[in-house]
Amino acid sequence: MTEKLALEGGEPVRRTPFPAFNTIGAEERDAVLAVLAGGSLSGFLGADTPEFYGGEAVRRLESAWAEHFGVPHAVAMNSATSGLYAAVGAGRIGPGDEVIVSPYTMSASATAALIYGAVPVFADIHPDTFCLDPRSVLSRVTSRTKAIIAVDLFGHPADMPALTSIAEKHGLILVEDAAQAPGASLDGELAGTMGHVGVFSLNRHKTIHCGEGGIVVTRSDDLAERLRLIRNHGEVVAAQRQLDDIVNLVGFNYRMTELEAAVALAQLGRLRGLVERRQTAARRLIDGLEDLPGLQPPMVDPNVSHGWYLFAMRYDEAVAGVPRATVAAALRAEGVPVSEGYTEPLYLQPLYQRRIAFGADGFPWRGSTYDGDVDYTRGICPVTEHLWESGLLYTDLIHGLLADDDLDDVVRAYRRVFGNLKRLRELGG
Ligand SMILES: *Cc1c(COP(=O)(O)O)cnc(C)c1O
Repeated sequence: MTEKLALEGGEPVRRTPFPAFNTIGAEERDAVLAVLAGGSLSGFLGADTPEFYGGEAVRRLESAWAEHFGVPHAVAMNSATSGLYAAVGAGRIGPGDEVIVSPYTMSASATAALIYGAVPVFADIHPDTFCLDPRSVLSRVTSRTKAIIAVDLFGHPADMPALTSIAEKHGLILVEDAAQAPGASLDGELAGTMGHVGVFSLNRHKTIHCGEGGIVVTRSDDLAERLRLIRNHGEVVAAQRQLDDIVNLVGFNYRMTELEAAVALAQLGRLRGLVERRQTAARRLIDGLEDLPGLQPPMVDPNVSHGWYLFAMRYDEAVAGVPRATVAAALRAEGVPVSEGYTEPLYLQPLYQRRIAFGADGFPWRGSTYDGDVDYTRGICPVTEHLWESGLLYTDLIHGLLADDDLDDVVRAYRRVFGNLKRLRELGG
C-alpha cells in the first residue's frame, strides 16, 4: 500500500465512517417502557409535600448515584448547566463576589457565577492536564473571591488536593465540574467527589447519558437541601418550612423527568465498563502515537485514572513546521476526523469583552455591588490561548465502541501524516 498522502490523491487510510457512539440498549428501552406503562412521566410537585423531591425513578437514580460515588447526597437536575447554577446558588455566592474558573471549558462553568451576579475571574490551566493551574488560581485570589470552579477537562481530574488547600486557606467554596469525568479518579478519589459540590452531565455527548440531564453530589446536608430548593421553586415552601436563610433560594424548574431518570439509572450500571473501554482505547492510541515529531499524546499522572471523554494532544507547530490546520486537513483526508483547539478562551466571548450580561448597564461588572476590576484582555491566560490558537488537536475517537482495527486506522493516519511533514511543508510553500 502506498504511503502517499490522501491529501495528494493517495488512497486514504480509511473510507468508511467510524462506528457511532451509542450506548443505549435493551435495559434503557425496558426502563423507559416501564415508566411509560405507569403513565407518570414526572413525579415533581412544587409544594411542601413528599413530591417536592421528585418521582420514584428520580429518587432511585439519586440513591444509586450517591452509593456509586460514595457520597451522602446526589441531586438530579435536568442538565449539568442547571446543576452548576444550583451549586453556585446553594453556595450563597452573589453580587460583589468573584469566582475563579478555567477559561478552557464549556461556557456554563463560568456563566454559573454570572447568573448569581458574581464576577467570573479566569485563571490559566496547566499544559499537561488542561485543568486549572493552582499557582495561577492563587495569583487570582482577592478579598472578594468566594469560590473556585474547577473543571476535570477531557476526563482528567483537576488538581483537587492543591485547590482544596487554597480553598481551605481562603475560606472558598470549591465546585468540581466533573461533567466530562464520571468514573475518573485521583489518588483513588472519584472525580466529582473532591470539592464541596460536584456536577456531572448526562447530555448526549458524555460518557453516560439520558439525552439531557445532570447530577450534583455533595457531602453537605445544608448544600444538598439548598440544591433541592433551587431545583424546584424553593420560594414556595420557605414559609411552611420556616426557612431562616433564604439567600439565593429563588427557585427554578431544574427537575428531571422519570423517563430521563430511568435511562440514567440503566446507564449508571454501564459506567465502569464504558470507562474501562475508553482507557483501553486510549492506551492503544498513546502507544501508537508515541514519538511523532511535534505531537504530544496526553500525559496521564500515575495517580490518575483518566475518564477519557476526549483524547487531546499537544501540537507544536514550530517542531512540526506545518500549520495545525494543514495537519488536521491531512488527517481528515485520510478519513480520520480530528478537531482543533477545543474552545475559545471564554473571556474572549462578547459577553466578557463587552461586559453585557443582565440589562444594558454592565451588571455585574459595573455598578455599586462590585468594587473589583477584573481583567479579560487577551494575554491573561497564555497557556489556554496557545492551545486554542495552535497548540492542541483532539478527537472523540476514544469512546470505547471502537474496535482495535478502528483505532489502528487512527494510528496509521497519524503516522502517515506525521511521517510526511516535509511533503506537507512543500505543499504549503
Ligand atoms: C457538557 C458540559 C457541561 C454542561 O452540561 P449540560 O448537561 O449540557 O448542561 C458543563 N461543563 C462541562 C465541562 C461540560 O463538558
